[in-house]
Amino acid sequence: MSGALTPTCAKCPFEEKERACRRKGGKAPAFCPTKRMEAEIEKAAEAYLKPETFEFARQASIQEASCYINRDQKPFVRHPVKPRLQEISEFAARMGYKRLGLAFCAGLFKEASVFSAYLERCGFEVVSVVCKVGCTSKEHIGITAAEKVCVGEQPEAMCSPIAQAIILNESKTDFNILLGLCVGHDSLFFKHASAPTTVFAVKDRVTGHNPLAAIYTIDSYYERFKK
Ligand code: SF4
Repeated sequence: MSGALTPTCAKCPFEEKERACRRKGGKAPAFCPTKRMEAEIEKAAEAYLKPETFEFARQASIQEASCYINRDQKPFVRHPVKPRLQEISEFAARMGYKRLGLAFCAGLFKEASVFSAYLERCGFEVVSVVCKVGCTSKEHIGITAAEKVCVGEQPEAMCSPIAQAIILNESKTDFNILLGLCVGHDSLFFKHASAPTTVFAVKDRVTGHNPLAAIYTIDSYYERFKK
C-alpha cells in the first residue's frame, strides 16, 4: 500500500462528527482505513474476543469512561476529572493486579519515588527499577568517547531498558509502568517486557516531560519546526 491510499488519518479532511470512524455511513477520504481495510478491522475485532484480551480491553474502556463526570447528562459535555496517575492506579485495580513494575529514568528519581509511594498507598506492591541498573558501560554497545553524554574517556553507564524488563519479568509483575524513559529505550522495554505496559510519562528534557508543549506552541516559540 502506498501513495494516495496509505492510511493517513492525521490528514482526514472531515469534521470529527462526520467521519466514517465516528458514525456508520460517515464521510471517508480515499485513503480511509475504516472504508478500505475491512479485513484488517475484522481481524482486530476477532483479536478482542480472545479471553485474555477481552477483559483487558473491556476494563480499559470502562476506565476511559469513568474519567468523566456527568455522563448521563444530555447534551453530554466532556468534563474529565482524573489525572493519569489516578487513571493508572484505578485501571490496575480493576484488572485485579497486585504487583506493579515501575521502570523509570534516573533523571526522574524523585518523581519515581513520589509515584511509587502513591501506588503503595493505593494498595499495590511496587517493584521499581532504574534505567542505569547494572551499571553496564556504554562501551558495551559501541559508544565512543565522543558519543557519551559527557564527552571523554571516563566511564558512563548506559541506560539498560532490557535489564529493566528482564528484572521486572523475573519479579513476575502483573503490569508495568514506564516513567521517563528515552526515545528508543522505551521501545526496547516494550519489546522485552512480558507483562502489559503502560506509560505514565515520557522523557522530554526541555518541556518538563510535556512533549505536547512543542505542538501547542508550534505557531509561536516552536515555529522553527514548521520550516
Ligand atoms: S478512519 Fe477514515 S474517517 Fe476516520 S479519521 Fe481515518 S480517514 Fe478519516
